[in-house]
Amino acid sequence: MVAPIVPVEGLVVTASNGIRSHDSVINLDHGDPMIYEKFWKETGDVSSFKIQGWENMSYFSDRSNLCWFLHHEFASQIRRIHRLVGNAFADENCHIVVGNGSTQLFQAALYALSTHPSLAETCRPIPVVSVVPHYSGYPAATDVLQSALYKWAGDANSFDPHATDPFIEVICSPNNPDGLLNNSVFKQITNNIHDLAYYWPQYTPITNAADYNIMLFTVSKCTGHAGSRLGWALVKDKDVASRMVQFVELGTIGVSKDSQLRAATILRAVADGYEEGGGYKLFHFGRKVMTERWDRLRQVLMANGAFSLLEYPPPAYCGFMREKTSHLPAFAWLKYEGNLDIEDTANFLRTKHNMLTRSGKHFGTDSKYVRISLLEREETFNIFIDRMSSIF
Ligand code: PMP
Repeated sequence: MVAPIVPVEGLVVTASNGIRSHDSVINLDHGDPMIYEKFWKETGDVSSFKIQGWENMSYFSDRSNLCWFLHHEFASQIRRIHRLVGNAFADENCHIVVGNGSTQLFQAALYALSTHPSLAETCRPIPVVSVVPHYSGYPAATDVLQSALYKWAGDANSFDPHATDPFIEVICSPNNPDGLLNNSVFKQITNNIHDLAYYWPQYTPITNAADYNIMLFTVSKCTGHAGSRLGWALVKDKDVASRMVQFVELGTIGVSKDSQLRAATILRAVADGYEEGGGYKLFHFGRKVMTERWDRLRQVLMANGAFSLLEYPPPAYCGFMREKTSHLPAFAWLKYEGNLDIEDTANFLRTKHNMLTRSGKHFGTDSKYVRISLLEREETFNIFIDRMSSIF
């Protein structure tokens, strides 16, 4: 039987963004990071770049590098941004693998781990687990090809590691959808994939430099350039890194160099904004807007009492911001608790309030929960707050 396809970000094409009419459908289903558009409009030339017709033509970027399609300028800006922010160890001891979004790298990591020589005698498919609620993209991406190598096995908390060893655990922190800081459930470290898409100072305090075997990042959530389709993995084990490279090579013969150069320009602009006194401070911009949004949302939720919201960890000292900062997750993870008899909150918001959101059932939990993106443009967010205030 073919597994039902559960939405990965951006795959469900629905109503338009940039909404003006108050009757129109607003789309808060995807984590489309348009919140950053305003920032980048203000930076002008520092974030622009030009490519000549003869440039970037070859398949290859650096034949001597394990990841031969990784552009050296992108690599050097990745190491620089991690040094600046202090959110991950990205020194020369770890390998950088670039992918078409971290979506491709997630699959590359599953492939690399499940074909590792140390697992040669293992019974496959190897189970893949993650704590519920988990990112809706994981089960879909794991099972789409019905691989004989690995297979989605659901909630890490209800998985018996003794019954099936080895297994792969995916840890997302801060977590999509609920924004909580997750740790691995099991003691193993070799077969963990750490998805750190949201481990940036606009969303959470940076309390330490992450230092795991496989760490996934993406420009989509860091700078907002989801359309560039660029992610990177920081990988310690050379064999795992080279298998990930092989996966990307077989799927797409590498990653667009034009895109990597653009992303390098963007990351350089971010770092220059802090280190060269450029005046543009992306993470401060992100924190300011997210703080306003969370304040407004909390006020509405308190006033109408129809939804419950999670308790987030208390503010913590952020080494990057050099002060205590609070958690400002990219999504609101709400449960309907109002007076109406509603089992499917996403359906209720869609049919009665013209808002597209993502149901809890896609994240391994029940449909009373709903995930709502807080990363949309200001005008969409304003309509969302208006509509939420009318729900009891
Ligand atoms: N991991 C998480 C937790 C995400 O939220 C997303 C995007 N929503 C991704 C991975 C995929 O990111 P990308 O755009 O780089 O494919």
